[in-house]
Amino acid sequence: STQTQLVARPVGWPTAADFRTVQVTLPDLAPGQVRVANEFVSVDPYMRGRMNDAKSYAAPYALGATMTGGAVGRVIASASDAVAVGDVVVHQHGWRDLVQEDASGFRVVPEIPGVPLSAYLGVLGMTALTAYVGLLEIAGLKEGDTVFVSGAAGAVGTMVGQIARLKGAGRVIGSAGSAEKVALLTEKYGFDDAFNYKDGSLANQLAAAAPEGIDVYFDNVGGDHLEAALGAFNNGGRAALCGAISLYNSTDAPAGPRNMSNIITRGLSLKGFTVGNYVQHFPAFSADMSGWLANGEVVFDETVVDGIDNTARAFLGLMRGENTGKMVVRTA
Ligand code: NDP
Repeated sequence: STQTQLVARPVGWPTAADFRTVQVTLPDLAPGQVRVANEFVSVDPYMRGRMNDAKSYAAPYALGATMTGGAVGRVIASASDAVAVGDVVVHQHGWRDLVQEDASGFRVVPEIPGVPLSAYLGVLGMTALTAYVGLLEIAGLKEGDTVFVSGAAGAVGTMVGQIARLKGAGRVIGSAGSAEKVALLTEKYGFDDAFNYKDGSLANQLAAAAPEGIDVYFDNVGGDHLEAALGAFNNGGRAALCGAISLYNSTDAPAGPRNMSNIITRGLSLKGFTVGNYVQHFPAFSADMSGWLANGEVVFDETVVDGIDNTARAFLGLMRGENTGKMVVRTA
């Protein structure tokens, strides 16, 4: 099995030298185990936090151990009654091509004609569930709301924009880091307006896109984006604090939004969440999303990096914005 391990804790921006790729020989199957050939493995921004030796909602990755994370693959050998050879399974043993573990860690999923297996890591998986929960449960989207989402061309952001529209938002605005991504938001994903956050004042660009203010902010970025949203909120506005990727590699203590008093004067609600605490919404999400996908009401992009040896490189690319939609690694 080809596996990628964390060998040093990054300080600031991670580099290729923080990882190594190793060959591991798998032993014979023990009773209850399955062997799975991964087809796609996921790289995700939250993994950056787990590379630090800091207490958080997920334990730090161990140095010298193989990285873990979402993956989808096919069972090639089974010593368990629960899982059969040929089954497609979703699991958390990523960053490797072959995995052998107890069957209890694998969830069997159906193959859907016309939908790649990688969808289980994005549009049918964790990142789209995050968008669904954050928008509907955490921010309490109401019909007619003006919604602003940062990181809008990413895995979570592209879903936020589309779910907002499908659930009755009045106006949907997104920010992203390139002209190509901004064009895609309005042309493919149905955003009413979008802007490049690298193009100048966030506050001015947001005010131009939302002249009547915003009611909901879905925050993937934190920092300046959160400050701009606090400045644009209408009374009673609600924010789902999902991520703060602009801060994940910073070595200085971040500056706080300087306009926190707007929370008081405008009666705003800001609520953070981690999707792992909201998995009870998976059935409702799954029913909605599979319907939307089948009807063509939701579209998605994936940036596919080939080769399990390139998993660390894919992760570094994700942090730099090289992806549109969900970043995945194809093992084959
Ligand atoms: P994305 O697919 O959005 O990929 C990350 C993107 O972040 C890049 O493509 C890049 O796009 C953008 N980015 C990088 N640096 C900056 C910066 N300094 N300012 C603004 N944008 C930046 O990843 P995900 O959709 O998987 O995750 C999006 C966010 O949601 C992350 O913050 C993540 O941590 C969070 N998250 C939270 C979960 C939860 O349970 N709370 C679950 C899943 C994700 P660009 O080119 O536009 O800069």
